[in-house]
Amino acid sequence: TDASRPEGRTVLLASPRSFCAGVERAIEIVERLLDRHAGTGRTVYVRKQIVHNTHVVAELERRGAVFVDELDEIPADVPDGSVVVFSAHGVSPAVRDQAAEQALTVVDATCPLVTKVHAEARRFAARGDTIVLIGHAGHEEIDGTLGEAPEHTVLVETVADVAALQVPQQVPDPGRVTYLTQTTLAVDETAEVIAALRARFPAIKAPPEDDICYATTNRQQALAAVAEHAQVVLVVGSANSSNSVRLVETVRRQGVPAHLIDDAAGIDPAWLNGCGRVGVTAGASAPDRLVQEVVDRLRTLTGAGVTVTEVATTTETIQFALPSQLRPSRQDPR
Ligand code: SF4
Repeated sequence: TDASRPEGRTVLLASPRSFCAGVERAIEIVERLLDRHAGTGRTVYVRKQIVHNTHVVAELERRGAVFVDELDEIPADVPDGSVVVFSAHGVSPAVRDQAAEQALTVVDATCPLVTKVHAEARRFAARGDTIVLIGHAGHEEIDGTLGEAPEHTVLVETVADVAALQVPQQVPDPGRVTYLTQTTLAVDETAEVIAALRARFPAIKAPPEDDICYATTNRQQALAAVAEHAQVVLVVGSANSSNSVRLVETVRRQGVPAHLIDDAAGIDPAWLNGCGRVGVTAGASAPDRLVQEVVDRLRTLTGAGVTVTEVATTTETIQFALPSQLRPSRQDPR
């Protein structure tokens, strides 16, 4: 196989792509804590991957962050002032309780848009509704949201799961049902699941605002516009990144081949054979530097001119404030 292309190639770059405001905030929280604790003997623990990206985690580890899967891996005799950061995906109340029991100082990097879904789960469960949570079993965000009202929540992933819901065992009163969703789902697939829920439970209530977040929606829209003109699409992101995997799937549903790669080294040159127009994007947890490296590798593999064209469907200006523990103070003038 030969990925070179003497007549050159066009790279269509989706915009928006790469970091969202929640990921920027989560990484900045860990970086600021590492700066503040440098040379003090205090440890910055992070529960779970701060965001689902192997490069981000490796870089923070290199700078001294210690990643754990569960809080009980943190030794009882940690030096005073050590902290544990909760990842952007959020945690269940049980994890907060455990942190309190272990007397850990918590800095919460949960994305505010995930926190919003948690608040909805509490509110709707308190008014007596059954919550049908649409999302992927085993994903950390779903573990966290489910934990808010486990007795009042049922998880569905697909239209078939909706059909299989048992009344009254799982849904005691079909007149009192609300659905919520994971923030990083595919918009098109989720619409089908919601339609199935409405057909089965006509009285079902929607969340006040979509739970699928602005960043997920924007990245899917931009990539759909790219895929209209691309012969193959490369999505930079890690395999456990929900929003990145959804990007790959939505492009494939458009009938265009798509591949998930962690970085430029993941490109199989055979994918590019016969492709003059290559679409490129990155999931919300993948650094944009990796996208630039992918474009560089495409230049090398093409061996002739590469034209880079941005396909922008919207611009993002949203930013989230840091937790109060990290806001600049007189002692910490940054
Ligand atoms: Fe927050 Fe959406 Fe980013 Fe997740 S993808 S961290 S919900 S902004």
